[in-house]
Amino acid sequence: MFPSADSFVRSSIAAGLLAAALILAPCAPAQEPSEHASGPAHPSELRVFDPSLIDKSVDPCENFYRYSCNGWFKRNPLPPDQALYGRFTELFELNRLHLKQILESTAEAQLDSRNANEQKIGDEYASCMDIAAINKLGVKPLEPELDRIAALQSIADLPAELARLHQIGVDAFFGIVSNQDFADARQVISFYGAGGLGLPERDYYTRTDPKSVEQRKQYIDHVRKIFLLAGEPEAQAARDAETVLALETRLAKASLTVTEQRDPQNLNHPTDVAGFEKQLTNFKLAAYVAVIHAPDAGKLNDTEPKFFAEFNALLGDTPLDQVKTYLRWHLIHTFAGTSMPETFDRETWNFYSHILNGAEKQQERWKRCTSRIDDEMGEALGQVYVDKYFPPEDKQRALNMTIAIEQAMARDIDSLDWMSTETKVKAREKLHTVMNKIGYPDKWRDYSRLEIVRGDALGNQERARAFEFARDLAKIGKPVDKSEWLMSPPTVNAYYDPQQNNVNFPAGFFQPPFFSDKEDDAANYGDMGSTIGHELTHGFDDQGRQFDKDGNLKDWWSREDEQKFNDRAQCMVKQYDAIEAVPGVHLNGKLTLGENLADLGGLWLAWLAWLDKAEAAHLDMNAKMEGYTPAQRFWIAYAQQWCTQTRPEQLRTQAQTNPHAPDEYRTNSVLQDLPEFGKSFNCKKDAKMVSATPCRVW
Ligand SMILES: [Zn+2]
Repeated sequence: MFPSADSFVRSSIAAGLLAAALILAPCAPAQEPSEHASGPAHPSELRVFDPSLIDKSVDPCENFYRYSCNGWFKRNPLPPDQALYGRFTELFELNRLHLKQILESTAEAQLDSRNANEQKIGDEYASCMDIAAINKLGVKPLEPELDRIAALQSIADLPAELARLHQIGVDAFFGIVSNQDFADARQVISFYGAGGLGLPERDYYTRTDPKSVEQRKQYIDHVRKIFLLAGEPEAQAARDAETVLALETRLAKASLTVTEQRDPQNLNHPTDVAGFEKQLTNFKLAAYVAVIHAPDAGKLNDTEPKFFAEFNALLGDTPLDQVKTYLRWHLIHTFAGTSMPETFDRETWNFYSHILNGAEKQQERWKRCTSRIDDEMGEALGQVYVDKYFPPEDKQRALNMTIAIEQAMARDIDSLDWMSTETKVKAREKLHTVMNKIGYPDKWRDYSRLEIVRGDALGNQERARAFEFARDLAKIGKPVDKSEWLMSPPTVNAYYDPQQNNVNFPAGFFQPPFFSDKEDDAANYGDMGSTIGHELTHGFDDQGRQFDKDGNLKDWWSREDEQKFNDRAQCMVKQYDAIEAVPGVHLNGKLTLGENLADLGGLWLAWLAWLDKAEAAHLDMNAKMEGYTPAQRFWIAYAQQWCTQTRPEQLRTQAQTNPHAPDEYRTNSVLQDLPEFGKSFNCKKDAKMVSATPCRVW
């Protein structure tokens, strides 16, 4: 998947605010796993608790991550096309192989034997794989769009053209999505948000350390090369690249930081079309809205007023030619992946995957095409996937476990010594309202209005994006549909949606090495149970706790409880701020707070739920299996889900932009805060893995 294609939807709004995913939004290219020749061939070879991965030469009380994962590291050197490779990628790869088989068979099947969805996914896969045809066409498929940009006569023409570009997924200037009204979770309105950057996020434009300065130079060089490939003369390409950086820097400086975006109050600025139009004196909003067909719900959210003021000012004082250059760049940039000739594709990989994240080899084409179809038509592909790989028994087992963790959380809330009785009542109410969504949607998405033409890779991508854009905006003014999913069924990930108060676990996740009916409860609760607890805790983290049980952004805490929560959360901010991920780059304790709270709370809830189950089953806590007590198996299974190899470039990017801490700290830092862990391994009080001042919220 291409870096900026839907960065507004995924990183600014959906992933950053609406849905708190367990790992990074799956679209980010550097996180996408790939070629792994030595990897296991079948999920049955992957285990939830795997004693063969343990390195007994490491003291578990000194570095539990190394103790649990060194064997895996030895067996899994980082593949050259990966910036990061871990257990999630291991399963992602197996899933991708399954998806490939589905896609290849639908691409090759007799045309009249396919149903409508199979035609679409099969023909789109065949189009994406036909690199010879794509190379032959060159930039020709983009010419109609490039011509429209060239034909702009004045800034007054911009709204209609920008609308057209947004429809086909180009992230230029700003973005619009449908979203639940913060004040009234029953209705859907439009959210206008900051966007239009080619680098991963705003701080890439403002940081002054030598590495960041160098990265901006490399970015200019990348933009220049893309313009050259598109046919611009050398001097113009160089000038245009400078223009792009200058305009994007202006937009970046007026945008919120990733940390500021975490607080929904910072993004809550309700107005209406007339009110928003008054701010945008240089941009005729009505002309824009008429083209995108966004219904008027009587209210909209200008999520970043400072950004839109700067956008308006920019239109007032920037020559039209520079605006055209900026649009041209974002148009080509959006499609310069699997839809365009190898030269564009290669150059784009070089900057985003190699320079920014350290990958040494580009992923094979079939892998990128498979991910592309999952992104464009995930529920068409997912329907076939679920039939083959997610039996009803698995769904029931997953649901039972989720309910057990929810019951543990209810008891945990009751037992908190810092929370008042009144707030506890509301917290329990919120917990009991959580909807559990497991595996796949009850009602599958209807793709009948999406036209896929075999041999038209770029046109298909434009139409798929326009389909998704229209589908999203059509929700404005209608009641909220809580049955909808933000992730496709094969996805190896999970999320909590604070505005809908539901947890979502796609089918792709419920497999080894995260869950297996062949393992004991200790292993499954330590691993999958902690993930379920993690997602539930998001309803009560620094962000999620600001929403009430119905998903309204409404304070339900007493002042005193809020203060106590913040004091406890501050302990974790400090703990993670102190971690230096790569020389000179520390983790951002505030940015990662929600995820760190969820990791710690989630594991604690899984532990409580498992203890209950163990007690009910009269489990002998001293009886060893494969050399380990049940409690030890629980902690090791937790740690082994995080075994991950990461390149330093990727680690730097992650520390600067990702709300999740790197996997080593998702293991060790979390366990240091849980004295129960130290007891299971008889750790001494002054051992590294035992914190003298453990943080604790839930
Ligand atoms: Zn999370």
